[in-house]
Amino acid sequence: MAELLLSIPELAKTPSWSEIKEAGVVAVEVGDQLHELKLVARPTKIGRLFNLVCPRCSARRRDLMIGDDGTIGCRGADCLRLRHPDQLLSPSARQVVRPARQIQRINARLEKPGLDRNLRRRLRRRRQASKRTG
Ligand SMILES: [Zn+2]
Repeated sequence: MAELLLSIPELAKTPSWSEIKEAGVVAVEVGDQLHELKLVARPTKIGRLFNLVCPRCSARRRDLMIGDDGTIGCRGADCLRLRHPDQLLSPSARQVVRPARQIQRINARLEKPGLDRNLRRRLRRRRQASKRTG
């Protein structure tokens, strides 16, 4: 059974939406794994419409799911093969949605060896804080 991971309408409600649109990429943390998902914009009469790019089959989708094995994909017939939206469970697997750059920046600093202990603690706290507000 797959779970809904991300949807454009849900993303559009987050405070980070403008930054996510600008970056064209969003980071989602599932368990310990950080996944980066691409967005594409399509110009329409009412403005730009955004879709997520399925990392499995490259289809442009409003929603992406996560399968039991942790694979991220979409409801496409050649992808995770969901027959009906009712087959989706609630998005309990998803931990965090952030603009990718923000988490990457913090993670990159944390990975440096010899980091001051207090700075490391501050960065961890900031990463936690950005999770809460996101
Ligand atoms: Zn797909």
